[in-house]
Amino acid sequence: MSSISAPRGVRDILPDESWKWEYVFKVTRDTARDFGYREVHLPVFEHTELFSRGVGETTDVVEKEMYTFDDRAGRSLTLRPELSASMVRSYLENRMDKLHQPAKLWSAGPMFRYERPQKGRYRQFWQIDFEAIGSQDPYVDVESIAVSLEIFRKLGLANLEVVVNSVGCPVCRPVHKEALQSFLKSKLGDLCETCKGRFNRNPLRILDCKNPVCREITEEAPDTISCLCAECSEHFSAVRLGLDRIGAAVSVDKRLVRGLDYYTKTAYEVLSGDLGAQNAVCGGGRYDNLAESIGGPHTPGVGFAAGVERIVLTMEQQGRSFGEPPVLDAYVVSPDPSSRDESVALLYEIRRSGIAADIDYMGRSFKAQFKTAGGSGAVFACVLGPDEIATGSVTVKNLETGEQHQLARAELSSFIIEFKSAKVKKQEGNLL
Ligand code: ATP
Ligand code: MG
Repeated sequence: MSSISAPRGVRDILPDESWKWEYVFKVTRDTARDFGYREVHLPVFEHTELFSRGVGETTDVVEKEMYTFDDRAGRSLTLRPELSASMVRSYLENRMDKLHQPAKLWSAGPMFRYERPQKGRYRQFWQIDFEAIGSQDPYVDVESIAVSLEIFRKLGLANLEVVVNSVGCPVCRPVHKEALQSFLKSKLGDLCETCKGRFNRNPLRILDCKNPVCREITEEAPDTISCLCAECSEHFSAVRLGLDRIGAAVSVDKRLVRGLDYYTKTAYEVLSGDLGAQNAVCGGGRYDNLAESIGGPHTPGVGFAAGVERIVLTMEQQGRSFGEPPVLDAYVVSPDPSSRDESVALLYEIRRSGIAADIDYMGRSFKAQFKTAGGSGAVFACVLGPDEIATGSVTVKNLETGEQHQLARAELSSFIIEFKSAKVKKQEGNLL
């Protein structure tokens, strides 16, 4: 029988990488707290309608990329391709409008999109998602951008480009759509096949087509900013001014339109100069009509989603620190089968005192246990043989220095804990 591998486009995040992810989540969690965002765990699947209505029928995500299936009762369900629609659904369903507004919420987890897998693009990938729902204040747009930049700053990401645009609202969007269509009408035959299809359904997306011919054609095309209504124009100026005030280095990209239909007014993206084709680490913006499109009352909102795989890739490429990988403090070595039971007892004794410890389960020889102890990253090997048992002691070997001495068994835990805290203090001292 052939062995089963993982489906195309998904990855196992193995221990050598998963600890790096923990670091990204820790920084995210700390930043969320500092900015007053609270965590929500959202379901991995939702009613398909949530996305077809919320994200938009004519978007690539809904048209081509969703994992949709019927459950056993015949309901159409979809593995979430993104989180904003779910977060707004949750906000409405749980009457979060009754809480302090805006509701500032964040979540993280795997998303699913049927895409062509390549470096930085997978069919299951993780996003960190922040949403502020219930306020129109341009400073909330500013804060949303600022949270993402703060996370990236703490993670040490460099060579980032932050671009913003305004895609308008239902008042000014039709004006722009018409201007764009009349500009493109005579050039329609030269556009790529995808853009020909977009011309009637979603002409805005032609502006961010990566095809060089389309790019050249749209070089002089009317942009969204030139068509903004007074309210959107004022909002965009306030956002830019606000970004200036908090010292965020941001540039305007008039082509930025984003792939999801729900964006209104502010759209933004953070691009990494070190990712090649898949260069977006984060995208977001305002979505004042999303709540209505999924059946709720008019509720403004703004948020962003950042891709965890791409953050980790960028950090690796830029040689950034992920903090210390988790290692054991101690490895219990049993030189003789007769002392094994007591060694196991010692193992649990020190674990209960908060020491990360392990023992051999493979019947390895005394020498091989030391080798494993070394490979485990533990600083100490704690040897408990018949002699030690007879004297109520443990032989402790520092695997880094080779130093070895005998301790009373009762003192072992405090010895290791003191050693650890002295090491931390020394590291902190080195940082000062
Ligand atoms: P792209 O232009 O790369 O397709 P997108 O505009 O579709 O990105 P969003 O929907 O804005 O992406 O999602 C936010 C972030 O999630 C992206 O900036 C990216 O970091 C990440 N992301 C999106 N799709 C994938 C994917 N298939 N694999 C890995 N990360 C992804
Ligand atoms: Mg995409």
